[in-house]
Amino acid sequence: MGQVKETISESPSSTLPKNQMSNAKKLHEKCLAIARNLWWSWQHDVFNLFRELDPIRWRELEHNPIALLGEFTPERLEERVTELSLISRIDYAHRRLRDYMECSHTWGKTHAGVLGAHPVAYFSAEFGIHESLPIYSGGLGVLSGDHIKSASGLGVPLVAVGLFYSQGYFHQRLDEVGYQQEDYANTDVRSLPMQSAYDEEGKPLVVKIETEGNPLFAKIWYMQVGRVRLYLLDCDVEENSEEDRRLTSRLYGGDERTRIRQELVLGIGGIRALRALGIRPGVYHLNEGHSAFAPLEVIREYMEERGLDFQQALSEVARRTVFTTHTPVPAGHDRFSPEQIAEHLAPQQQLLGISFEELLSLGRVDPGNPHEMFCMTVLGLKLSRRANAVSNLHGHVSRKMWQSLWPHRTEEEIPIGHITNGVHVPTWMAGQMRQLCDRHFPADWIKKRGEPEVWKHIHEVRPGELWETHNSLKSQLINFVRHYLRKQARRRGEEVSQVEAVNHLLDPNILTIGFARRFATYKRAALFLSDIERMQEILNNVNRPVQFIFSGKAHPKDEPGKQFIQKIVNTRHDKGFNDRIVFVEDYDINVGRHLVHGVDVWLNNPRRPLEASGTSGQKVTLNGGLNCSILDGWWAEAYDGTNGFAIGHGAGHADESYTDKKDAENLYRVLEDEVIPCFYDRDSDGLPQRWIEMMKNSMSSCAWRFSAYRMLMDYTKECYEPSAGGVSCEMP
Ligand SMILES: *Cc1c(COP(=O)(O)O)cnc(C)c1O
Repeated sequence: MGQVKETISESPSSTLPKNQMSNAKKLHEKCLAIARNLWWSWQHDVFNLFRELDPIRWRELEHNPIALLGEFTPERLEERVTELSLISRIDYAHRRLRDYMECSHTWGKTHAGVLGAHPVAYFSAEFGIHESLPIYSGGLGVLSGDHIKSASGLGVPLVAVGLFYSQGYFHQRLDEVGYQQEDYANTDVRSLPMQSAYDEEGKPLVVKIETEGNPLFAKIWYMQVGRVRLYLLDCDVEENSEEDRRLTSRLYGGDERTRIRQELVLGIGGIRALRALGIRPGVYHLNEGHSAFAPLEVIREYMEERGLDFQQALSEVARRTVFTTHTPVPAGHDRFSPEQIAEHLAPQQQLLGISFEELLSLGRVDPGNPHEMFCMTVLGLKLSRRANAVSNLHGHVSRKMWQSLWPHRTEEEIPIGHITNGVHVPTWMAGQMRQLCDRHFPADWIKKRGEPEVWKHIHEVRPGELWETHNSLKSQLINFVRHYLRKQARRRGEEVSQVEAVNHLLDPNILTIGFARRFATYKRAALFLSDIERMQEILNNVNRPVQFIFSGKAHPKDEPGKQFIQKIVNTRHDKGFNDRIVFVEDYDINVGRHLVHGVDVWLNNPRRPLEASGTSGQKVTLNGGLNCSILDGWWAEAYDGTNGFAIGHGAGHADESYTDKKDAENLYRVLEDEVIPCFYDRDSDGLPQRWIEMMKNSMSSCAWRFSAYRMLMDYTKECYEPSAGGVSCEMP
């Protein structure tokens, strides 16, 4: 990727040559250099450095080191660093980052060598990397973030492409009656680790995408996520109309037309951006259908450069394209009308030399049906040779759902496989748990975290040591939640006494169940309230009480989801619940991280089989929490009877209300008969031995298998390598 460096000049804010800088200035630059590579976000010792500089501002600035450093003059920073004796730690972090960036002995060097000159281009509509970078909404984004962090760690050559949303997703605020309100705020671009990409003449690179009306323009930002570069397209440029300048301001905002225009910029614009940057990918990975227009532009390139006809180019491009689907319900897939397709794809269709009907047929299951909408998932499936779902069960569901695309094949023969999602261990494992593993695991365990052998060592840890670590994380979670609840109460203008009452909410000795995710209706957040009396008995049992921590946003247009939130929040006005249920506003990566670090039990009760994978429960297993879940998504393949709890037996019924009733019954039963007795069954030292054994089983059976390292190694071996085969001799 030498070309990238040539076409992008350094940021224009020129600084003095190093030897003319004061020591204070050098120190400031060094800290900024660390802050500008998101690598810091998964290094505990590095982000702790930033925190120590000013713990209160660190928290107030949403853990954004560039914003924090912006509040220090170089002289003040030097003073503070001296005061805290941080200098050698800063030097060490700086050196480690440099070594990391230069290291050439990676897994990818040996296993993904063919990608060296032509990296994977990974497309996603959202990237959840850190709370200070609000360009994600939920699981899909966090998965993309974890994917690229792992590509960085393993040294798999990959560039990522997404959109820059200046207002991101909304901030959630609950009003007096517990109803969700949505706030949007502009992100201060200067405090993000982003730079503009420039052409050789020093002008910002802008890509143009034709439509039937005005063309769309987008500039290109880039940022460094460890060794991976992430490019983000942004429509806020002068060339666009006022309306189009706002096109990429909100993630999943606007109407269907906004959606198709964003997807046009992501797909077609994304490929043009790579070209403008001089990057020639060997493989294209479309993470979900949002970016499925991308191969259409690659096909055009192939036709132009190699003189292929449309069909030849299509099969060449499909050979290099990997498509991952995440949506197990037909209604969840993006679909556009022929009019919308005409408005936005007609220029592309002409460049491809195909008829409009041929273009439409690429997005239709039945090309002959003029009433069928154009579906992005169908397009993704038709333009890729390798397609996968994100868990074993989801693979079955997807093959069944798309069987009609291959009418002559049986369900088993449908070419959609599965690679189960995983999570990035350094991001999601708490510092204290990491230290415990460092004490007991082999020295280089973190590099081998995708292998089962490493995690077996958890069985050598004394039960008391594991339990103490967990309890310490649990108290931190409770402090964190109280802090948030105080903030919420103050904002709502509650009286001082009420704000202070928050300090008595949640008891660190009580079994604590966490539930946090998007409030999509299929996730049934309020299922536990199906039988209010029974739930109240569970919560208020004198010897074996239970408390719940909830968090999550509903999509702005999801009325039933908002009502679930309201129902849960308003339990605080019912004395029968005894304040044993709290709701933390504005779920994001930061709230999520604290929750998965500290809960005893992570609850998940989706309507099976609608949870394609789910990843939050995987994060919990890294920290010693136990899952209690419907046998859906990843848990259907992870649960083995000794490593957590299952709600029901994985049966499903066509009748939704019947299923909900059965599942609620099974939820109460597993809590009453299994979870609660096991947690409160203590030995003479006060240790729940059976529970601790389960914690260990959960870690040793899940942590490697559902790590993003394992996931990325699977993608490399099963998709990237075969797709890239022979690429170097064929590329122009
Ligand atoms: C991990 C994560 C998710 C995904 O969790 P699911 O279990 O898939 O719902 C969503 N949002 C945030 C902030 C996360 O960290």
